[in-house]
Amino acid sequence: MTLPSPIDAAKTTKTKVITLGCRLNAYESDVMRGHADDMDLNNAVIINTCAVTSEAVRQSRQTIRRAKKENPEATLIVTGCAAQIDPKAFAAMEGVDRVIGNNEKMLAGTFDPERLLGGEAIQVNDIMAVRETAPQFITGANRAVIKSQSRTRAFLQVQNGCDHRCTFCIIPFGRGPARSVPAGEVVAHVRDLVRQGYGEVVLTGVDLSSWGGDLPGTPPLGDLVRRVLKLVPELPRLRLSSIDPAEVDDALFEALTTEPRMTPYVHLSLQAGDDMILKRMKRRHSRGDVVSLCARLKAARPEITFGADMIAGFPTEDEAMFETGRQIINEIGIPWLHVFPYSPRDGTPAAKMPPVNGKLIKARAKILRAEGEAVKAAHLQSRIGDIDTALFEETGLGRLPDFTLVKVDNPPAAGQFGRVKITDSDGEYALGRIEEE
Ligand code: SF4
Repeated sequence: MTLPSPIDAAKTTKTKVITLGCRLNAYESDVMRGHADDMDLNNAVIINTCAVTSEAVRQSRQTIRRAKKENPEATLIVTGCAAQIDPKAFAAMEGVDRVIGNNEKMLAGTFDPERLLGGEAIQVNDIMAVRETAPQFITGANRAVIKSQSRTRAFLQVQNGCDHRCTFCIIPFGRGPARSVPAGEVVAHVRDLVRQGYGEVVLTGVDLSSWGGDLPGTPPLGDLVRRVLKLVPELPRLRLSSIDPAEVDDALFEALTTEPRMTPYVHLSLQAGDDMILKRMKRRHSRGDVVSLCARLKAARPEITFGADMIAGFPTEDEAMFETGRQIINEIGIPWLHVFPYSPRDGTPAAKMPPVNGKLIKARAKILRAEGEAVKAAHLQSRIGDIDTALFEETGLGRLPDFTLVKVDNPPAAGQFGRVKITDSDGEYALGRIEEE
């Protein structure tokens, strides 16, 4: 989960799409852009909102106001998690023409101008009633991804929704119940993406670990990973977005530790490192579970690195709990850490718990970030002298399989692989040079 920063994501198409929130929302914006173009929707601005915190909702509202000011003649369409959860509030905002739901936004027909503008101001159905896995979302998404991304990494949404009820999280009410895209569909689309020239595919979802739970036979995520790797041998690299430490099944463990094309990188939805806080968050893992999982992964494949999301200053967190949480960063060794200062979200149980003082939350977030930076710097140092394969991105930086970013002089074009010798680090990136084959 990434905190919102509005991305003006459509400079080349007729419909402008502004995205807040996570990578999944960005992905879905690509899908909407494709649909809007296909349907010849003109002079419209779509704002894809986020509801992960109250701050995210505030930013969503602010973005809508700014979009109206900058595009006074355009049709303003508001969608995304915040709009799904509270459609009336968004419909009541000045300048908003249509509010559409998170399910509706993935359907091409929604963007038919006649239907959209001739229909109700609020086009939001009960997302908790959505059960089907919409193959159309992956089909639409795939096409949109191909249109809009450079040919490096393709993010493929294979799951949506969430059946858990973490006490800080409003997401299930924005995204509905967990639904999975069947493995056959996923394999076909991965194959297609490789044919289009992508060097890496990242499987994503709101609760990726729960993939398969709603499919016949309830296959675990590990099965999907194994099938993709087996049935698409031409795929150079497969990566997973965030996974739940409580749900690493045997097949997934094996794929992560034995499959060379599976990147040695595990991003954990950790959230906290203290058992009492984990319990109050209603997470399904304990501190010990995560520490031992990471130790087992590392023992089986030493080059694995970890990423994690952590919340600083969750309600009731005292100094001792914070300290236990802080220590896990170094104990596991998490170089790729995302820290979110806790901010209450109306409608969640955590919002009613005794809060930590705001200044303290900020201070704790800073300490956690510094801890993560130190682990990252040590990791980069540890890679000096290695030769590894980087996939080069549009920025000119290369991504190594373990998620390290490397800077080289004269990088190859985006989407190309290159063998890199790591010679140094600047604390943020590995520094290296291209090795001649
Ligand atoms: S799933 Fe929705 S609420 Fe959660 S981060 Fe993404 S956009 Fe925000």
